[in-house]
Amino acid sequence: MKYIKTDAPGNVRENMLKPGERFSFRCHPGISCFNLCCRNLNLYLYPYDIIRLKQNLGITSAEFIDKYTDVVLRSGHAFPDVMLKMAQNNEKTCSFLTGGGCAVYPDRPQTCRTFPLEYGLFFDAEKNRSEQVVFFRPPDFCQGRHESATWTTASWEADQNAAYYNRMTGQWAELLRLFSTGAASGFDPGSEQGRMSFMAAYNMDEFREFILNSSFLKRYLVKSSLRVRLGSDDAALLTLAMAWIRLFIFNISSGEISARKKGGL
Ligand code: SF4
Ligand code: SF4
Repeated sequence: MKYIKTDAPGNVRENMLKPGERFSFRCHPGISCFNLCCRNLNLYLYPYDIIRLKQNLGITSAEFIDKYTDVVLRSGHAFPDVMLKMAQNNEKTCSFLTGGGCAVYPDRPQTCRTFPLEYGLFFDAEKNRSEQVVFFRPPDFCQGRHESATWTTASWEADQNAAYYNRMTGQWAELLRLFSTGAASGFDPGSEQGRMSFMAAYNMDEFREFILNSSFLKRYLVKSSLRVRLGSDDAALLTLAMAWIRLFIFNISSGEISARKKGGL
């Protein structure tokens, strides 16, 4: 999910779906393009994607990041992105692609789950408010758009069990938007502060260790309904992580977390 500036050129909004607008799509094993879309991808992984994938594979966040991803800092961006590594074969297939389809299908990333829809975030500076927008733009080779089944964004989200993914990834996109503003001008991704922020977002196992084995809970007031779930619930931990990064980097308190007293790490 990308954030999009409101002054972006009009063609950026091409193929944006209006609320309630229907689109045609069906993907199934008998279709001529089956699995063609699972290769040679620039597939961004978001923090909630990493949680679901590492749980599916039964490995730690660190193992997942090390084995399956590339961490890249794009020009003009303050915060690193995490991308799924493609296999080292001629077709550069996704590491999870098998002859029978996606090996991690129940926990496939948000981008794959919502395909052929793409989600974005428009920020209205005047109203100081973000709005989620959705585009329908499957690549030309995707034959699913010629099928007769039709959907709205809401019915597709329900069919793909994507609501929670979209919510968590929307919150992450909103946080990344902050990293694109002047408020992040002193942020250095290579600093200790940068390393801690990246760890909180993408490495739930290490973030949990940090919270439970440091003075974190003495220094920060954490919402009690979150606090009781931190030991075992990665999604609760990620909710706290995003709130903590807002506080730690941008000094924005929330209902999830506030500082008990002044001070950083
Ligand atoms: S290209 Fe489109 S229709 Fe073909 S397998 Fe991928 S999503 Fe399905
Ligand atoms: S994670 Fe699954 S659905 Fe997504 S590109 Fe890989 S094989 Fe395809």
